[in-house]
Amino acid sequence: MDFALSPNAADHLGRLQAFMDEQIYPAEPTYHEQRLEAAERGSGLHAEHAFPPVMEELKVEARKRGLWNLFLPDADDPAHGLKVHEYAPMAELTGWSPHLAPQAINCSAPDTGNMEVLHLFGSQQQKERWLQPLLDGEIRSAFAMTEPDVASSDAANISISIVRDGDHYVINGKKWWISGAADPRCAFFILMGKTDPSASAYRQQSMIIVPTDTPGVDIVRALPVYGFQHQEGHCEISFTDVRVPVSNLVGEEGGGFMIAQARLGPGRIHHCMRAIGSAERALKLMCERATSRIAFGRTLAEQGTVQDDIARSRMEIDQARLYVMQTAWKIDTYGVKAARTDIAGIKVVVPNMALAVIDRAVQVHGGAGVTDVTPLAEMWAGTRTLRIADGPDAVHVRSVARAELAPYLPKK
Ligand SMILES: Cc1cc2nc3c(=O)[nH]c(=O)nc-3n(C[C@H](O)[C@H](O)[C@H](O)COP(=O)(O)OP(=O)(O)OC[C@H]3O[C@@H](n4cnc5c(N)ncnc54)[C@H](O)[C@@H]3O)c2cc1C
Repeated sequence: MDFALSPNAADHLGRLQAFMDEQIYPAEPTYHEQRLEAAERGSGLHAEHAFPPVMEELKVEARKRGLWNLFLPDADDPAHGLKVHEYAPMAELTGWSPHLAPQAINCSAPDTGNMEVLHLFGSQQQKERWLQPLLDGEIRSAFAMTEPDVASSDAANISISIVRDGDHYVINGKKWWISGAADPRCAFFILMGKTDPSASAYRQQSMIIVPTDTPGVDIVRALPVYGFQHQEGHCEISFTDVRVPVSNLVGEEGGGFMIAQARLGPGRIHHCMRAIGSAERALKLMCERATSRIAFGRTLAEQGTVQDDIARSRMEIDQARLYVMQTAWKIDTYGVKAARTDIAGIKVVVPNMALAVIDRAVQVHGGAGVTDVTPLAEMWAGTRTLRIADGPDAVHVRSVARAELAPYLPKK
């Protein structure tokens, strides 16, 4: 197993580090100020989710520096030529500033997953109309699968209705937790719904492109995450007699489940590496606080329990990173299918590890840790959702257990 970076990847990583230091971190206060100003000035959904202008400046700068769409596998984008295990450390770096950096380099979810879907399954027309502007960072998108009324961790339950009517499909039902839908630049959703309730369990659903401004699409509200409203918004949406042309179907009717599976894979490497980046930032903050705060005559760093927290955090981060890098290497070497169980495993291990590290950093900060004077409180809330979003822990644990037990069970 070899995680060494090629000279090309090492060069990209160095340039990304410089971009983080020179552009991203200095822009963080501006980003938050611009969001606050927009929320105070305006009203309604788009006020809290208005687009901070500083982001557009960062995108221009990133593109100028050749730091754009780095997530695309090298086979799809020879422009940068990065393998999955080579992009992984870059995703980690962007996780140090998760609200700014991934979007600045056009590598943020859910756009990345949607770009993968359109790249793999989109028609020529869909690629021109929707994929190209996403690749150019001109629009944003959302992925609409989860529904309030069914246990959506089991994709077979997804039941919003998609009924063919002549040259159109008509969509009726509800979705929620649709990330990105409140962003004023969100131009379309890739929606998963049921086209054939009588088909076998995994052939009932299809994926279809729904432009955000189609009549009948109603963004009911953006759901707060532990009280935080993210810029892109996680939305509850109702669809009432929403008509879209049949040419908006992605792939074939009944292919939704298969596309949902294909959409994951490298995306989980990116999520996990970003979470590792957040954990690293939390550990840095923990060390800085511990060495500068004095309690009972000594710095916190001189207290054994704090040392224990710091040491454990370092050891757990490094273990988790190796697990993710091994998974990325497997994807590069044997393909996504061969790495399926590892992909499930990292999706459990990394968010739990990152949460533990961030929680320790919160504790070392005392009261300061649970409010907005450090990024820790929001970081904890965001990381907590990773144990649920993209499939809850239990579902991935089940996959790992099944793979481990398979050789011991009678062949079917
Ligand atoms: C911040 C955030 C962003 C999100 N973004 C998106 C998005 O952009 N698009 C989208 O479509 N969805 C999104 N989601 C939704 C997310 O993917 C779902 O919440 C997730 O798949 C779980 O579905 P559910 O909420 O219906 O939980 P349920 O399916 O009802 O599951 C609830 C709980 O049941 C337990 N459980 C489930 N299955 C098993 C099992 N086999 N064994 C044991 N226990 C089990 C688990 O503890 C699980 O947490 C987002 C969620 C969050 C919190």
